[in-house]
Amino acid sequence: MALAGIGDIVRESPAGVGAFNVIQLEHATAIVAGAEALGLPVVLQISENCVRYHGALEPVALAALAVARRADVPVAVHLDHATDRALVEEAVALGLGSVMYDASALPDEENVAATAEVAAWCHERGVWVEAELGEVGGKDGVHAPGARTKPHEAVDYVARTGVDALAVAVGTSHAMTTKDAVLDLELIAELRAAVPVPLVLHGSSGVPDDVLREAVASGMKKINIATHLNKAFTRAVRDYLAHDERVVDSRKYLNAGRDAVAREVSHLLGVLTG
Ligand SMILES: [Zn+2]
Repeated sequence: MALAGIGDIVRESPAGVGAFNVIQLEHATAIVAGAEALGLPVVLQISENCVRYHGALEPVALAALAVARRADVPVAVHLDHATDRALVEEAVALGLGSVMYDASALPDEENVAATAEVAAWCHERGVWVEAELGEVGGKDGVHAPGARTKPHEAVDYVARTGVDALAVAVGTSHAMTTKDAVLDLELIAELRAAVPVPLVLHGSSGVPDDVLREAVASGMKKINIATHLNKAFTRAVRDYLAHDERVVDSRKYLNAGRDAVAREVSHLLGVLTG
């Protein structure tokens, strides 16, 4: 049984921790296979968008938890980007040990109040909480490429909310399909020095490998990657279908996608821990 708490994984990992988004069951098994190949811990994340896709959290959450329990390495199952408190409560009831509560669309004071309440509720139940501080006026919130988290605001936010980890804006944005994000490494180092909890990088799919390495060296701890794995999955499935137009059994092409994701997870974990 290798279901682990994200707090323990983060504390015990000297380098970066890879957190990868699960969409289908194949993602969960692929991500764990990629981590097992290197003997490294990993985080499976389920986003609110993924819940919407499946129509409910329970089926995908229980599947991810079952995959985690059977793994040979520590695996945490985390709720990613939940804007709905009821979803946080459901995740905890289902057995997820960590959540990201995202109130960043609210004005900062409301974000602080709502996040502090969720953090207190989660801590009473031993659940780890990640949150993010919104950028006032930022169209895509904290993850707009031009958005930057100010260290003194981050320190204040963590102190007032009591969260266990903080997603910060240092140059990435979500769903990038090209690897040309420019990260503010000096700001990462400043945030690392000032903020007492682990820092989380969202939207890391657009970050080249060497910059990811530098981001970890500068102080980023949990690295969220989703789009990049979807690219690998879809490319492999598309190639398989193009080469075998008569295939009917979906296991054949999904297996190609799964293998591609497992290889990519191994590669990325190597980058984050190298
Ligand atoms: Zn994110």
